[in-house]
Amino acid sequence: MIDIKTVLVSDLATNCYVVTDNATGDCAVIDPGDFTAELDKVLSKIGYEKLKYILLTHGHCDHIGGVSSILKKTEGKAEVAIGEKDVSMLEDPFSNLSRYFLSLPLEPVKCNVALHDGNVITLGESVFKIISTPGHTSGSVCFVCDDKIFSGDTLFYRSHGRTDFPTGSDKEMKESLDKLAALKGDYTVYPGHNLTTTLEDERLYNPYIGSNFYDNIY
Ligand SMILES: [Zn+2]
Repeated sequence: MIDIKTVLVSDLATNCYVVTDNATGDCAVIDPGDFTAELDKVLSKIGYEKLKYILLTHGHCDHIGGVSSILKKTEGKAEVAIGEKDVSMLEDPFSNLSRYFLSLPLEPVKCNVALHDGNVITLGESVFKIISTPGHTSGSVCFVCDDKIFSGDTLFYRSHGRTDFPTGSDKEMKESLDKLAALKGDYTVYPGHNLTTTLEDERLYNPYIGSNFYDNIY
């Protein structure tokens, strides 16, 4: 089982999640879009030596902006994991959009683990399964642990992430949303922005999933 703390970061109000494996106290941070005082406080309380992974749902600056500062705090020991097709975004201020959205381009950081569909990341006694969900970016991934999905900018409450940035695709987004909807059972969904939801509610009410209302917009 994992414990989850949500910290709102970056000017674009990104949900950064600090997840801790209850059995061992090992922790991971998902999508640190900025390194805020509040995030520092949460991670300091857990202890930076316990931070094993920085898990990234994709490479946009509002999800990766805090990575370099956090790595300095862990003396480079935390491993940075991101979908294989988004790896170059960690070093490219154009594709990670920091050249456009931030006053300064982001400091480049290195990827330690390039993620593929079906891979797993083990945090203490907890397992995070990687689901490849291209559409927002080609390397977008979701992390599934127990009955929780960290959905990045793929699945949002009653919506989905933008598809008009480089490597985005309406067609792939549609396929990725249907792939998530096809998972068996129910999950709590922790998205990259806005409200937490459940997969069952999104199957029922998200207009972009399955045969709901606007199927033909794609
Ligand atoms: Zn994004």
